[in-house]
Amino acid sequence: MSYQHQYIDGTRIHFPVGKVVCVGRNYAAHAKELNNPVPTEPLLFIKPASCVVSPEGGFNIPQDRGAVHYEIEIAVLIGKPLSRQPSEEEVLDAISGFAPALDLTLRDVQERLKEKSWPWEVAKSFDGACVLAPFVSGFAVKDTTDIDVRLTINGDVRQDSNSREMLYPIIPLIQHMAGQFALQPGDVVLTGTPAGVGPLQPGDELVMELPGHTAVTTRVLQRN
Ligand code: ZN
Repeated sequence: MSYQHQYIDGTRIHFPVGKVVCVGRNYAAHAKELNNPVPTEPLLFIKPASCVVSPEGGFNIPQDRGAVHYEIEIAVLIGKPLSRQPSEEEVLDAISGFAPALDLTLRDVQERLKEKSWPWEVAKSFDGACVLAPFVSGFAVKDTTDIDVRLTINGDVRQDSNSREMLYPIIPLIQHMAGQFALQPGDVVLTGTPAGVGPLQPGDELVMELPGHTAVTTRVLQRN
């Protein structure tokens, strides 16, 4: 099943699926729940394009590599090249859409990597590690510092927050990222997860939401 970027009305977006640039610990309450210090600069990592899947019809999780945690995040689709510390206006102009996404994480694997001070890569980059819903047009969001994000599992709200709680708000965060490496059309920025992360189980029913904009229902498939 190959993934292609699309808007919520089904319109295909003709950007290639690029890298997924993520920030860790961007909500203080989430850093605290995993006993991590609040960072003094954005903690960036990258998931490859190969890990992106659609939530349509459900998704698979690894079942033999320890706990797989959900992390709901506000995803931002980049539609124009950004590099070398772009201005706020250039970043706003480059945003093509917003969507709810899951940054799936092999939490036990990540804990072992953290103990060794190794990169998180294998805990974050497995096939299917980014469940990315269709995008709302960038024009639909009037204020990037006031976007609600929510995840409901089996009828219980597990994560419920707003972009105003971010330590590094969306526009300065993307400015910082583009100062480190170029962002290209089709790249996706995941802006960090609020508190409430936890393990997924096969059969779980999830509702991924940017309340007021889009809600997508999906589930964890029972493998084969
Ligand atoms: Zn995350």
